[in-house]
Amino acid sequence: MERRRKFVLAPLIIAGLVVLVQYFGSERFVNPETGRAARVALSPEQETQLGLQSYRQVLAQEDVLTGGPEVDLVTRVAQRLAAVTGDAARQMDWQVSVVRSPQVNAFCLPGGKIVVYTGILPVARTEAGLATVMGHEMAHATSRHGAQRLFQSQMANTLMQGAQMSVALGDLPVDQQRTILGAIGAGAKFGVILPFSREHESEADAVGLLYMARAGYDPRESVGFWQRMAEASQGGQPPEFASTHPAHDTRIENLKALMPRAIQEYEQAAAGKKP
Ligand SMILES: [Zn+2]
Repeated sequence: MERRRKFVLAPLIIAGLVVLVQYFGSERFVNPETGRAARVALSPEQETQLGLQSYRQVLAQEDVLTGGPEVDLVTRVAQRLAAVTGDAARQMDWQVSVVRSPQVNAFCLPGGKIVVYTGILPVARTEAGLATVMGHEMAHATSRHGAQRLFQSQMANTLMQGAQMSVALGDLPVDQQRTILGAIGAGAKFGVILPFSREHESEADAVGLLYMARAGYDPRESVGFWQRMAEASQGGQPPEFASTHPAHDTRIENLKALMPRAIQEYEQAAAGKKP
């Protein structure tokens, strides 16, 4: 009996040690906006690489707009937000694309590659509404949530073994590609719905609210946007965005609690613009 138990435990102990070594060998990232610490599976360089590869893979299958009022609007909001992302975004190489599609969707890949679907524009309704969702998405990227999710997933093993992202995304087996795309928030297109955790959603809400305020968009408009998004998700098939960014009942309450600081930043931004 004793002997047998030893045999069962040995692999578990070894697996546990491997996990510990990986855990302490990983980078600890502290979010400069929220102070929240988390382990990440990828270096910023690896994130940039992976984000760029995924961006190309997604866009290759979409109807990408090359000009027009939608592109002008989305580009302007992206530029204003990118300018105020501060320390967290030093390594970002922001790029934005608008996809013609009825899908209610938007995401920002690691490294700062943003994709906005025209179907989300009616829900955004105003430029400040669009800044709400884009600020939220860009906050997922600057907060490195994709690299945190990869760290938590089995894919961390595969990726960390290589240390360098020497393997091109397109060379990996299809199921592994799908797992990665799901973890970094681009999976809806490929049928992988992996909702962000409540913790990541709350952090993206908080950081995104600060971004929009600093960029000169009234943060109070975020409340209306999230209410419209919740309405759009009720009944029938929830939009792609709602599947990967689940609404939680305390979202509006949390936003309201963060509002005084955001309004202060908004007013400072407005004062700074005056001659
Ligand atoms: Zn989100």
